[in-house]
Amino acid sequence: MSFVKVKGTYDVLPEESFKWQALEAHVKALYQRFGYQEIRTPIMEYASVFHRDSEQSDMVTKETYNFKDKSNRLLTLRPEGTAGIIRSYVENKLYTKQEVTKLYYLGPNFRYERPQKMRYRQFMQLGVEAIGDSSPTLDAEVVTLAYETIRSLDLKNVKVCINSLGDEQSRTQYLSALKNYLTPFKEHLSIDSQHRFDKNPLRILDSKAPEDQVLLKNAPIPLDYLTPDAQAHFQAVLSLLDASDVIYELSPRLVRGLDYYAHTVFEIQADVEGFGSHNALGGGGRYQHLVHELGGPQLGGIGFAFGMERLLHALVVSNPDFLTPKAMDAFMISFDDMTQEKAFSLMQNLRRQGFSVDMTFPLKSFKAQLKQALKHAARALIILGEEELSQGQVTIKNTQTEKQVKVPFEKLSSTLKEILNHV
Ligand code: AMP
Repeated sequence: MSFVKVKGTYDVLPEESFKWQALEAHVKALYQRFGYQEIRTPIMEYASVFHRDSEQSDMVTKETYNFKDKSNRLLTLRPEGTAGIIRSYVENKLYTKQEVTKLYYLGPNFRYERPQKMRYRQFMQLGVEAIGDSSPTLDAEVVTLAYETIRSLDLKNVKVCINSLGDEQSRTQYLSALKNYLTPFKEHLSIDSQHRFDKNPLRILDSKAPEDQVLLKNAPIPLDYLTPDAQAHFQAVLSLLDASDVIYELSPRLVRGLDYYAHTVFEIQADVEGFGSHNALGGGGRYQHLVHELGGPQLGGIGFAFGMERLLHALVVSNPDFLTPKAMDAFMISFDDMTQEKAFSLMQNLRRQGFSVDMTFPLKSFKAQLKQALKHAARALIILGEEELSQGQVTIKNTQTEKQVKVPFEKLSSTLKEILNHV
């Protein structure tokens, strides 16, 4: 028997976890600044939350982890965040509390996909949902927040691509035009796209298969089939983005995997080494019927989700400084049982006062202790030798300037504070 991780999953080891924490802290602060509050929903839902009639995406039909619990209830591990959040929004009647509910979330999702680089079976997403309003201003707000996410992280070679699918009438007109155009070429489409032809023809636009790409070159695009209302909605979104200096690219062939999207859809694409064909960092769009489908009132919303593994990878490539581990304030150095015992209690006192301090366990050679201090990038060494102990003092050495001072035990914390403030 071997004990290995489940295929398509990964461990976040200590030397990596601080990167996740840095990214999480950054986006949480950003989203709160935009007025979003965190929501945490269960990772499992009743299967019906995801497997709805209108749902046609591969992600839901083929890739979900479904299982029965001991009471024979069919459950699904969430493959994405939106449906569970809307379930919670409706169940908790959040729409009665305020007109627009602005939520952000962070957490694992599960999809039974073929594992590849940057594609996992358990992966982390962070995202937002703004629910309760159908005006273009809310679309602009959410697209702006996606843009601010990548801008504030200083990611290079990353862009926001945007398109509109319009309202239901636009969509119906467009789908019929697309089908008319593709019908003569149906047999020349890729096998996947042939399947999509009847079930979800919009997704053909998304295909990366070379044979489809050739055929799609002259295909009609959704923008040409927008009703005047849908056109006005999209124009208003773009004007708002322009007025806020949000940089985007119009992508007339962009559609999104899920069936429920309407009006604004967008994707954040990265041209970053190591991504291969999985260049989408995140994406989102407006949904008009989802709240109603999940038992709530007829209210629209818009949201997006970033894949955190990809976001982190882009961050490592374009802005490694952001992910520098935080240096430890100080490291204790002692020489024998007696000095170590005192160093231990001084250390606990410093920790209580908010300093980050550590020492070696068990006591090591002087050289080994220095090595460990270096590994923690300690900003100061607190050295307690036999002589210092007998005098009731410690030596504090600033590891940057190499200057050192000897102070009585009672002055350790105030002197350390001074030293650290001056570096
Ligand atoms: P989606 O919900 O499919 O629109 O995905 C939104 C984002 O989540 C994508 O742009 C990816 O960054 C990320 N993502 C989706 N599926 C996976 C996966 N299997 N592994 C890693 N990241 C994923």
